[in-house]
Amino acid sequence: MQEFETVIGLEVHVELLTRTKLFCGCSTAFGAAPNTQVCPVCLGLPGGMLPLLNKTAAEYTIKAALALNCTVTPNLTFDRKNYFYADLPKGFQISQFFYPMGTNGYLEIHHNGESKKIGIRQLHLEEDTGKLSHFGDIISSPYSRVDFNRAGVPLMEIVSEPDIRSAEEARLYLQKLRTILCYLGISDCKMEEGSMRCDANISLRPVGSSELGKKTELKNMNSFRSVFRGIEYEVERQRTILLSGDSIIPETRHWDEAKGITRAMRSKFVSADYRCFPDPNIPPFPVDTKWVESIQASIPELPDAKYYRFIEEYGLPPYDAEVLTGTKELADFYEEVLTCYREPKTVSNWIMSELMGHLNAAGIGITEAKIKAKDLGKLLQLVGKGEISGKMAKSVFEEMFATGEDPELIIKKQGLAQISDEDTLDGIINTVLAANPQSVQDYHSGKKKALGFLVGQIMKETKGQANPQLVNKMLEEKLKSS
Ligand SMILES: [Zn+2]
Repeated sequence: MQEFETVIGLEVHVELLTRTKLFCGCSTAFGAAPNTQVCPVCLGLPGGMLPLLNKTAAEYTIKAALALNCTVTPNLTFDRKNYFYADLPKGFQISQFFYPMGTNGYLEIHHNGESKKIGIRQLHLEEDTGKLSHFGDIISSPYSRVDFNRAGVPLMEIVSEPDIRSAEEARLYLQKLRTILCYLGISDCKMEEGSMRCDANISLRPVGSSELGKKTELKNMNSFRSVFRGIEYEVERQRTILLSGDSIIPETRHWDEAKGITRAMRSKFVSADYRCFPDPNIPPFPVDTKWVESIQASIPELPDAKYYRFIEEYGLPPYDAEVLTGTKELADFYEEVLTCYREPKTVSNWIMSELMGHLNAAGIGITEAKIKAKDLGKLLQLVGKGEISGKMAKSVFEEMFATGEDPELIIKKQGLAQISDEDTLDGIINTVLAANPQSVQDYHSGKKKALGFLVGQIMKETKGQANPQLVNKMLEEKLKSS
């Protein structure tokens, strides 16, 4: 059977976290009453006011371009993309058509310990449109409402090269992109709220061919999961068509989350002519070296650098490094625990299983958690010194997570400290041996299971607080000499 290779390019739109819009002072706050955050500039009304560039939005975009290894344009210019739509009050969108802010970059994805670079063709800054909501249906007088609060909000578009080869790679690319933008603090990248949106260009070609096949553009995926599912579906759909000898119709398709299918929206790719031209109201703004250098200096250590450092410096497996560098806050938390308890793999295990398990169950992020990194370090120190068992530590952790209290305080309050005093243990062991003569006999006749039973009895007697290693050692010595 003919084998195909999947070719995917992603176009991602990200709303920037600026307080005001791209060319006016209107607020960008999410959730305000419709059409309350508007003015003549973003509504395109006649008047004397001219657009004034929001320098923070430009700075954020340059920051993203640098973090994605792009070449930054020496001149910031804006163009008009002319078209009519009900959510576009001016009749044109201000975008960077001729000279995008950044070009020729890449980001790296990691999968099963292997790394791959995905090219970034370009990254540019533009205005968001308003938001249309549709009501009623065809039969009972349908109507639409428009909210212009979003019109003019700074939007960054990031276009990848067609380097992505599977739905899984697409998901990893998107997640890495979100991680980087969150590290930079320039967008909250919430797909569910629409502050991060993704379109995918998908095509198939025979394995070994370097020509691009006919593509479809997939829209309306509003979670990482739906990006993955939508692409998987579309790839299979195209494969079936190609195998049957038909050809792909280039068109925009809509992902239907509920039905789990893609549907044709409109055929396109007669390459729309937007009659773009430089916006006469916005003069070019020079991007000088000093400015770029100061932005570069404000970029924190990025996820990939951290990933490689965690592997190198702490000897972590790639998987751990990937999980721990997933957010800047989690990575910082991890390193803070290490300042109190320098056992990188043990700390990593605790964070990945206990901490992340509890965070997921509570549906919160690390920044909202009450537990402090220093306290987790302290708890692990106590386990390391044998003052409490690993099992007890988990119940102390539970309490720390719920209340944010100091582990030593919790241990004292719950009377959990481990019994490592040999005299105390000696007495308890004697009592247990006297009460279980059959097990002692079994042990001597070679039934090793009896030892486990006796240890269990001692642990029961001490409500689980006896130091298990010590109990084992003392019990064996006692049995051997009896
Ligand atoms: Zn405005």
